[in-house]
Amino acid sequence: MKDAKLIAKSHPAHQTSIDLGHEITVGGDELLIIGGPCTVESLTQMEQVATQLAGSVQALRGGVFKPRTSPYSFQGMGNAGLAILDDIRQRFRLPVVTEVMAIAQIKAIAAQADMLQVGSRNMQNFDLLKALGKTRQPVLLKRGLAATIEEFVMAAEYIVSHGNANVVLCERGIRSFDNYTRNVLDLGAVVALKQITHLPVIVDPSHAAGKRELVPNLAKAAIAAGADGLIIECHPEPEKSVSDARQALSLEEMVALVHSLRPIAEAVGRQIPGLRQPVLAIA
Ligand code: PEP
Ligand code: MN
Repeated sequence: MKDAKLIAKSHPAHQTSIDLGHEITVGGDELLIIGGPCTVESLTQMEQVATQLAGSVQALRGGVFKPRTSPYSFQGMGNAGLAILDDIRQRFRLPVVTEVMAIAQIKAIAAQADMLQVGSRNMQNFDLLKALGKTRQPVLLKRGLAATIEEFVMAAEYIVSHGNANVVLCERGIRSFDNYTRNVLDLGAVVALKQITHLPVIVDPSHAAGKRELVPNLAKAAIAAGADGLIIECHPEPEKSVSDARQALSLEEMVALVHSLRPIAEAVGRQIPGLRQPVLAIA
């Protein structure tokens, strides 16, 4: 394995905690649970998501620049979607995570979201990684569709070596021979990454499973394996999601899942933050 210089763990207790704003951190004793739709579809949709999840999750997700397999599929709301995320994060005082696909999008996303996701398809887009390294914005780096652990680690090293230490790794499943699940969740990588690097490591069971009924137990397994958090797709009307409908939980299922994770978190010495102070649901 090539040596990571800056993100290598120097001793077992060496662990970075990253501030996402809104008094939320990742990498400490408290887990980071991120919930929300694959794609931002409307202000009403995001208000429903935020209102129902505000007491359960620590951050919201929603893509506005979407990397779709087909060029004929909906490509995301773009800047109009960013404005929705900005509105929601201010009113609900929760960090929001959204995907950045191009260097030209960084400035606008950094101004209107709290964490920039580099999707699987861009994990080795080295120019994008270098450009994100020149910001101080937290980056959620997802593992490539078929990336080795070494390639994943070195992609994170690209961002950190260009000046941005605020990187969170995300295991989201890798391609294998079996297509019953969309991808294969590699929990061995989570355990290994926690030993190799001092960066926080979170898990995306939604894109790993591709089927909603598999998500809760994979989420539990990820926390038991030592993950620092989860990013999970959920939607007010899962079947109507414009993308990734088959893997989306309902908001009620998401709230129930977070509740069911508490004893598992405690068993491995972690906590899930409790209900936050009341939020302004209406502007
Ligand atoms: C997503 O988070 O909606 C997404 C496209 O993820 P990934 O890059 O892991 O496929
Ligand atoms: Mn998705």
